[in-house]
Amino acid sequence: MQLIDKKKLIPIIATVSLAFIAIFIYIILKFSNTTTTISGKEFNNILKNNQIESIYLQDNYIVANTKNGNFKVFKDAVNRSEIFKKYPIKVYTKSSKALTYIAILILLSILSILIYMLRRDKSIGINLQPQFLSKEIEENSIKPEYNNKYKFKDIAGISDVKEQLLEIIDFLKNPHKYKKRDIRMPKGVLLIGPPGVGKTLIAKAISAEANVPFFYNSGASFVQIYAGMGAKKVRELFEKAKEMAPSIIFIDEIDAVGKSRDALDSNERESTLNQLLVEMDGFGSNSGVIVIGATNRIDVLDSALLRAGRFDRRVFIDLPNIKEREQIINHYLNNKKYNIDIAEVARLTAGFSPAAIETLINEAALNALRKNRDLLEIDDIYSVKDQVVYGKKRVVSLSNQERQIQANYQASKAVIATWLGFKFDKATLLMPIHINDDRVLISKNRLINLAKVYLSGVIYLQKKYNDTFSVSKDDKKLFENIIETIIKDYTISNDETKQNINKDIEIEITTTLSKLSAAIEYISNELNKKEIITYNEIKKSIDEVL
Ligand code: ADP
Repeated sequence: MQLIDKKKLIPIIATVSLAFIAIFIYIILKFSNTTTTISGKEFNNILKNNQIESIYLQDNYIVANTKNGNFKVFKDAVNRSEIFKKYPIKVYTKSSKALTYIAILILLSILSILIYMLRRDKSIGINLQPQFLSKEIEENSIKPEYNNKYKFKDIAGISDVKEQLLEIIDFLKNPHKYKKRDIRMPKGVLLIGPPGVGKTLIAKAISAEANVPFFYNSGASFVQIYAGMGAKKVRELFEKAKEMAPSIIFIDEIDAVGKSRDALDSNERESTLNQLLVEMDGFGSNSGVIVIGATNRIDVLDSALLRAGRFDRRVFIDLPNIKEREQIINHYLNNKKYNIDIAEVARLTAGFSPAAIETLINEAALNALRKNRDLLEIDDIYSVKDQVVYGKKRVVSLSNQERQIQANYQASKAVIATWLGFKFDKATLLMPIHINDDRVLISKNRLINLAKVYLSGVIYLQKKYNDTFSVSKDDKKLFENIIETIIKDYTISNDETKQNINKDIEIEITTTLSKLSAAIEYISNELNKKEIITYNEIKKSIDEVL
C-alpha cells in the first residue's frame, strides 16, 4: 500500500516542480533582461513619451520597463516624486530578491526530493519491486481452478491408479463421513511416474470428480522467486486452500522443493521445504485439504517428506502397457476417421507415454491431411513415428530384439526377487519393479539378497547373450551402493572384502538363475506379449516349475 501511495505522489510532485520551474524561468527572464543605464535627461524623455509600462525602485536606481527594453537611472538624477505620482511605485528590494532566492531554494529542495525518491525506488528496487511483483504472483497463483473438462472417464488406461484414488475423491466429497468415524485420511498423495503419463491430468480429474477447487503450483515456482518468498508463498497457499476446503493443492515436480537436504544447494529451497513440512504437520488430517505432489524422482526426495503424516500415500504410474496403450490410442482416434489396426499401433508404441501417443496420433492425422486423405492409415503412423521418437519428446522405441532383452532382464530380476522373499505389485517390460520394503531393522542377509536382485538381470543377460547392456546401468549402481554399505556398516571380519562378497553373490545367483530358468523364460514371454505381469502370477509360475 505504502508503495502505491508513493507512486501516486510522484506525478503530483512532478507537476508542482514543473510549475516552480516555470515561475523560476519567468523570474530569471524578467530580471535577466539587460538593463541599460541612462542619464536623467534621457529618462525624462521616456517619461514624457509615456513609454513606461512599470517602474521599480532597486537599490539606488529607478528601473523602468518599456516596450523598447529596460532602463535604469540613478535615483537622484530625476525628480522622483513626479515619477512616483504618475506610477505606483514597486520597490524591488533585497526582500524581493530574497523571495526569489527562497523560491529557488524551495524548487531545488523539491527537485532533490524528487530525484532522491526516484533513485531510491530504483536502488532499493530489489526489495520493493519484487514485493510488488510477488504480490501479483501470489495473487495469481493462489487463485484456484475449477476443473470440469477432464474427469476420470477421459483418462484412458491406468484403471488400477484410478481405483486407488476413488477413496480420496469420496473423502473430498464427504469429509464428514470420515470425521464422524474418526478415520484419518492421508494429507498428501504422491504421484510418481515419468513425464507425460498423466499425473497432472489425474490430479485435475480428482478435483473435477469431487468438484473441489484445485490449486496448481509447480515446485520450481516456489524456489525461483526471491529470497524468503517461497516459504511465504507456501504459507499463503495453505491458508487459502484451508479457507476454501475441501480443496486440492497440487505441486508439480515437487522434487524441485523436496530434494533431499544433502543435495541442497540453496537456503531458499530448504526454507521452502521446511515451510511445506510445517504446513503439512499443522493441518489436521480432516481439514479437507489434500496435497497432491507429482514427481518422477522419488529417489531424490527428502525422507522428511515421505514420513508418516505427510505424503503417506504413494501411487506409481508407469508407462502404459500394451492393453492400456490400446485404450489410449482408441481414445485419441475416437473423433477421427481411420482405417488402422489399433493393436498394431499399440505394439509399435512400447515405451510411449500417453502424451507421446497423443502427439503421434495428431502428427499422423496431420500427415493424412497433408496428403489430402480422409482416412488416417497405418502408413501415416509409420511416417511420423520416428519424428515423435527422435523429436523433442524422446521416447523409447524398441526393436524386437531389444524387446526380448528387456523382457529377459526384467523377468530374471522379478523371479529372483520373488524367490528371495521380496514383495512387489507387478513386473513390467520397461519399468523396474518397486520393492515394497519399509523395515526399520535390515539384516545383512537381507541386504545381500537385495544386492542379488540388482545383479540378477546382468548375470542372466551375460549368460544368455554373452554381453552386457545399458538396461542394467542403474541397477549396477544400486548394487555397488549396497556392497559399500555392507562393507562399511556390517562387516566384522577382515576376510570379507568387496571381491569376496561379489564372488559369493555371483555364484549363488548363477545357481538360482539356472534352477529357475523355466520360470524366467515363461515370464519373459508374458512380458514380451503383455508388458505386465503381477506378483501373484510370478509366484505361481515359480511354484509350478519347482
Ligand atoms: P505428467 O503430469 O505426468 O507429466 P500430464 O498430465 O501433463 O503428464 O499429461 C500430458 C498430456 O498427455 C495430457 O494433457 C493429456 O493430453 C495426455 N495424457 C496423459 N495421460 C493420459 C491418459 N492416461 N489418457 C489420455 N491422455 C493422456
